[in-house]
Amino acid sequence: MGKTFDIGLGRLAGTSVSVSVPLNEAQDPPSKIEGGAPGTGEVKAAGLGDSPCATGAETFYLETFGCQMNEHDSEKVAGVLLARGYKQVESAESASVVLYNTCSIREKAAQKVFSRLGEYRFTQQEGQIIGVLGCVAQQEGEKIFSRAPWVSLVCGSASYRKLPQLLAQLEAGNRRVTGLETDTDETFETEVTRRDNPWRAYLTIIEGCDKACSYCVVPFTRGPERSRTSESILEEVRRLADAGYTEVQLLGQTVNSYADPSARKMRFSELLVAVAEVPGIRRVRFTTSHPRDFGKDIVDAIEAVPAICEHVHLPVQSGSTKVLRAMARTYTRGEYLEKVALLRVAKREISLTTDLIVGFPGETERDFEETLSLLDLAQYDGAFCFKYSPRPNTPSLKMDDAIPEEEKSRRLAILMEKQREIQRGRNERLIGQSFEVMVEGKSKKEHQWSGHTSSNKVMNFTSREQESLGDYVHVKVTAATPNSLVGEKIGMTEG
Ligand code: SAM
Ligand code: SF4
Repeated sequence: MGKTFDIGLGRLAGTSVSVSVPLNEAQDPPSKIEGGAPGTGEVKAAGLGDSPCATGAETFYLETFGCQMNEHDSEKVAGVLLARGYKQVESAESASVVLYNTCSIREKAAQKVFSRLGEYRFTQQEGQIIGVLGCVAQQEGEKIFSRAPWVSLVCGSASYRKLPQLLAQLEAGNRRVTGLETDTDETFETEVTRRDNPWRAYLTIIEGCDKACSYCVVPFTRGPERSRTSESILEEVRRLADAGYTEVQLLGQTVNSYADPSARKMRFSELLVAVAEVPGIRRVRFTTSHPRDFGKDIVDAIEAVPAICEHVHLPVQSGSTKVLRAMARTYTRGEYLEKVALLRVAKREISLTTDLIVGFPGETERDFEETLSLLDLAQYDGAFCFKYSPRPNTPSLKMDDAIPEEEKSRRLAILMEKQREIQRGRNERLIGQSFEVMVEGKSKKEHQWSGHTSSNKVMNFTSREQESLGDYVHVKVTAATPNSLVGEKIGMTEG
């Protein structure tokens, strides 16, 4: 079966007009465990504290649902357990611990969790521990035990470091354990991370969110904003570069709201430059940027430093100032377009992608038309489009003028079709130009390869040579679709 891995933005959220890159299984990159001696991929035992180690017989199965942050959290959870002697297995049936890392951003995602837990109930082996991690764990807490009594562990993202202790408590005879604090000052840094991709490393630089958009569960499920120190981030990037990673993706729900807690007080734009200057790092990506904290200094950094990728994901959510106000997004349509203008006058062509919600309570036809007209002005290279989904605890739950489901679906279809045509036009403009591409996959078709440009466009290209995954090549664009570019390799790029 082909595995889908690292689709950059494609993993940010469910419904999307962007696509993921399916990889041929034979070409799947091997996982790496980070945290040991640089470059060795060994698991370091020192510094792991007094937390209990597994006897060697314990195994875990980890299933992940949701955004890029969840994917990366799962890499960290796997690292924590592997470092304590657990072995990771490919099926729930053969595991002593089954962990499900969940998402609750939209209702459908949350519903899916309980139907999946229902399936686990029927496959549960004698003595097997079933645990729920992530946003649904944080949101539902101990209620999960009454809805799914076969679950014995519930743990939110701020408590993953405690997983070995929680598992030890279960093994010692406790029937149910929870890790649900969100008021911790710590960001979720682990000593050991098992990374799924040997060239591209994800790194959380800021956890949680303080923005309080009226529709969003993230502030409840991930807690307040906590940033890592710039020193610890740069130290990790140096280790990653030593271990052979060439691309780093800095993650945060509002990555550009990064606030260095150390005396150095590095700004986010300075951090981007510092990461890009680490020897061996060729690409630096960052997601997701909040428009309120997006300034010219970030554009200046992209312009000045080629290793900072020419792509910004800047969710707008709506083109109507009235709706933005109801969403508590803290900017108007005009202010958002001023940020877009900063990007459009940059010397490097910077690709721009966004998130959009249709059918927010009170969204009139006129408001929706303003969103459509914003697409014309912003000329996005990609957009994740969602129907508004009412979520527990959020202020928008109590708002009047709910939009009927059929109307939301109608608006979503119109929006996606319009964006698709914009993307087609934007990609067709690139025919004849050449771009650097990181080789990330081989197609089943002969001589066909795929990867991403610095602007995060998917490039499917022809090369008669045996390419090495993780290499950088120059590709000339010969054709374009709304979701990808098609090209031919014209040479290697210098390392
Ligand atoms: N922090 C990012 C920002 O401010 O843009 C977004 C993070 S959120 C995990 C990803 C996207 O999910 C949001 O940009 C929004 O479009 C969508 N989303 C969040 N809550 C939603 C809801 N209740 N209904 C529909 N879409 C939602
Ligand atoms: Fe949610 Fe808004 Fe925070 Fe993004 S900025 S995570 S949409 S509350």
